[in-house]
Amino acid sequence: MRRIIPGILLAFLLLAALPRPSLCSGEPNTLPDHAAIDLAALQAAYPGAIKGLERNAEGRLELVLSTGQRLMYDDGRTDAAPAEAGPARDRRAADAQQNLASPDIRTMMAQVYPLGPVDDQSAHPAPGFDPGRSRVQELFTALYGASEVQVRKNCVPVRFDGHTLPANARFGAAQALERVWKRIETLLPQHPEFLPVLRPLGETLVWRVIAGTKRLSMHSFGIALDVNPKLPYWRWEPHPETIPAQCKAFPPEILAAFEAEGFIWGGKWASFDLMHFEYRPELILKARALAQQAR
Ligand SMILES: [Zn+2]
Repeated sequence: MRRIIPGILLAFLLLAALPRPSLCSGEPNTLPDHAAIDLAALQAAYPGAIKGLERNAEGRLELVLSTGQRLMYDDGRTDAAPAEAGPARDRRAADAQQNLASPDIRTMMAQVYPLGPVDDQSAHPAPGFDPGRSRVQELFTALYGASEVQVRKNCVPVRFDGHTLPANARFGAAQALERVWKRIETLLPQHPEFLPVLRPLGETLVWRVIAGTKRLSMHSFGIALDVNPKLPYWRWEPHPETIPAQCKAFPPEILAAFEAEGFIWGGKWASFDLMHFEYRPELILKARALAQQAR
């Protein structure tokens, strides 16, 4: 009999950033470490939406949503050397274009988002290092709505720098964005250098595909915000050699305000998108837990 592997205990352990106790091999609820931490991060990020991981008839792990919908956690495509975890595997995985077009959940979460102020390393991401840019679209349609009409029903108005923007309230993105603005607003009088980053402000909700692809942008779900849309984007930046310096010059206080509330920044991607912030609490939680474990 197939059985759902529970993640509530693991989620607790992840949030407490304690080492997960090792389970005996052969136990029916044994999960590989990477799967356990991914599951815990997803369950903590999207409360009530994720039932657990379950092995299918082929023995591959699938993510089971509370609706019963199943998404492939590990399709095996990047699993040629399962013992080789970590950066080497992640880099190779990221090199494959198919991981952007149709990733599994494991690939979606494999690259660990670099939290905190931009340093030499995060200003020079390796080619293909785009943590968060590889996305399982079916997860986001399940979480936020499968059509523009559905998404708009799930959105509420959010106040941000004098604008009122729609943002998705189903799993906290709207509330988090409101809190981001409250953090920035208090700093603004002392930081006039924030203004060219924030103004003119871009958009949150736009139902559209990503330029050059058939994949829905995260703006389709009302969980992303573009600050000043004139900031550099990899597809049409004439001077990419200037990007590391521009990333280092980006106000760390703005970056910190977004990351504190569960948003990742496209300025940390090799395929850079400096205007783009996206609500991805599962990636922020995973990054925080791994950083605490490392300490
Ligand atoms: Zn954007």
